[in-house]
Amino acid sequence: MDAGHGVLQRLRQARLGNWQVPGGGPLDALRAVFITHLHSDHIVDLNSLFTSGIFNGLQMVDRPVELIGPGNRGMLPPVFGGGARGPVVAPENPTPGTTETWELIKRAFATDFNDRIADNHAKSPDQLVKARDIELPSHLIADPNGNNVPDMEPVQVYEDDRVRVTCILVQHAPVFPAFAYRFETEAGSVVFSGDTSRTPNLVKLAKGADVLVHEAISREWLDGEMPEPRSPQVQAGYQHMLGAHTAADEVGKVAEEAGVGRLVLNHLVPMDWPVQRWRQTVKRDFSGDLTVGQDLLRIPLS
Ligand SMILES: [Zn+2]
Ligand SMILES: [Zn+2]
Repeated sequence: MDAGHGVLQRLRQARLGNWQVPGGGPLDALRAVFITHLHSDHIVDLNSLFTSGIFNGLQMVDRPVELIGPGNRGMLPPVFGGGARGPVVAPENPTPGTTETWELIKRAFATDFNDRIADNHAKSPDQLVKARDIELPSHLIADPNGNNVPDMEPVQVYEDDRVRVTCILVQHAPVFPAFAYRFETEAGSVVFSGDTSRTPNLVKLAKGADVLVHEAISREWLDGEMPEPRSPQVQAGYQHMLGAHTAADEVGKVAEEAGVGRLVLNHLVPMDWPVQRWRQTVKRDFSGDLTVGQDLLRIPLS
């Protein structure tokens, strides 16, 4: 779709001659992008934001968009269940952080970027994006393979005239670092959990927020996928899932403890579980407003 869009634009403009990237669009107000963690389901379209973004307003930004996220993990995670480690991808740097990932994306899409710069007078990726790894205070430098979610206070990572953003480490083992973010604006506050199991840090970050967007996995569904009796290996896998994600029957407790006004469920596993079942499960423990998220949903603040 993206490629087709680009071709169509070109054909339209070719008739007009002297083709250039068009002006405004939904991305012309984009200031920053925040990455919770570097699992592919969370960053797989990052390149599209900046390659196709120039056709949707990004070309108009007056300064590079800040791309903010976790740094390099620093070491490979342990092999789940023990045993010998399999092949290592990119052994010279097997756990790149946000800045390195962006540099690698630029390299991977160099043909496209260079074509757009020459053919469409597009801005260069360095004019569009400035990547930054989140630096944690030194006393919080955790052992990625040990206790990697220490009790901590939120850390500020961004501020402009409209929004102040803080983050906190959450539990998505073996992923490290994994962050949740809080966005404070005049209109209200929004907390985004990222992928996490139940952790006191998230409750701390979300205290009193107007909106908490939180992931959820159905324990019932998982029970069906991995029925009892479970072998030790399957049981370990079962625990692994619940150690990295928050069961639906716990999300309401998290939101209630944090005292948020509205809870929005997202990153739903499974994605085809009926909305009513999510509601029934989560509402048992949560007294605020509940929204079961769907793609392209917009929730206004006040
Ligand atoms: Zn993840
Ligand atoms: Zn995920």
